[in-house]
Amino acid sequence: MYMQEILDEIVATIGQSDDRGQVANYIPQLACIDPNQFAISVAMADGRVFHAGLSDTLFSIQSISKMFTLTIALGKLGDAVWNKVGREPSGDPFNSIVQLEHENGKPRNPFINAGAIAIADAIMMGHQPKETLAEILNFVRFLAEDDSISIDETVAQSELKTGDRNASLAHFMASFGHINHPVDHVLGTYFHHCSIAMNCQQLAKAGLFLVADGMDPVSKKRVVSSQRARRINSLMLMCGHYDGSGEFAFRVGLPGKSGVGGGILAIAPGKASIAVWSPGLDEVGNSKLGTQALEKLVQQTGWSIFGH
Ligand code: GLN
Repeated sequence: MYMQEILDEIVATIGQSDDRGQVANYIPQLACIDPNQFAISVAMADGRVFHAGLSDTLFSIQSISKMFTLTIALGKLGDAVWNKVGREPSGDPFNSIVQLEHENGKPRNPFINAGAIAIADAIMMGHQPKETLAEILNFVRFLAEDDSISIDETVAQSELKTGDRNASLAHFMASFGHINHPVDHVLGTYFHHCSIAMNCQQLAKAGLFLVADGMDPVSKKRVVSSQRARRINSLMLMCGHYDGSGEFAFRVGLPGKSGVGGGILAIAPGKASIAVWSPGLDEVGNSKLGTQALEKLVQQTGWSIFGH
């Protein structure tokens, strides 16, 4: 079966499901998104791209941005990143605070909220939030080869107003001496990078460097070393879906990063970068239909990293 047929079938079946999950309701601006939307894009290592559904509709990438900020932090700090965050799955919800107390305020990995806040602090390195955000945005635009990508300020303000839990995480880490900038600056940076708006076409393109050992296989731009690409993929596999990471590895078998906007970026090493979006979430905050779509795609392509 050809890729376009596979995607069209996914949109016609899974994309039409009645059981779509719940949109994130703790961020008011995300709570008003229509759950009846679905999109999928596949950017292949050989340069071909395939799309189905609403693949040019923008959505809030939310925690998918944590893959981009981790990549930037690794570029700036190298292995010193691991002094700030660990690299073990958390097994706790994405916004959990309990583990921080047990491990002296050091987040278990860069993809839970606490970890991403610590990474935002690391990237700032004496810069103002605006400068840091410009750097993050430029990196994403460079990867996607699209300068129109921007931050949805309404979503960022909505997160800021309802961000008590994230503020608690940041202050708690600061109490252990893990935050080096004013907490409100770090939180502002974090909320804004979560509020980057992208569509599936842009997101799939932006993930391509993780498909081919750190080099965009189409533009031939080297983004990171092959070792770094492998490591980012391994973190996405182990921690990219929070306390649903085991389930995602079991069902899909690809490194992936989800966001509460309903997007998932999944990497089939050597094969393709896949972006899928459906706003309804499962109990742990991962796109319900997005996961089903990836499960189906992997069944049809044999792309699971664990074998056909
Ligand atoms: N900005 C969201 C938050 O902090 C990101 C969470 C997510 O996508 N899992 O809660």
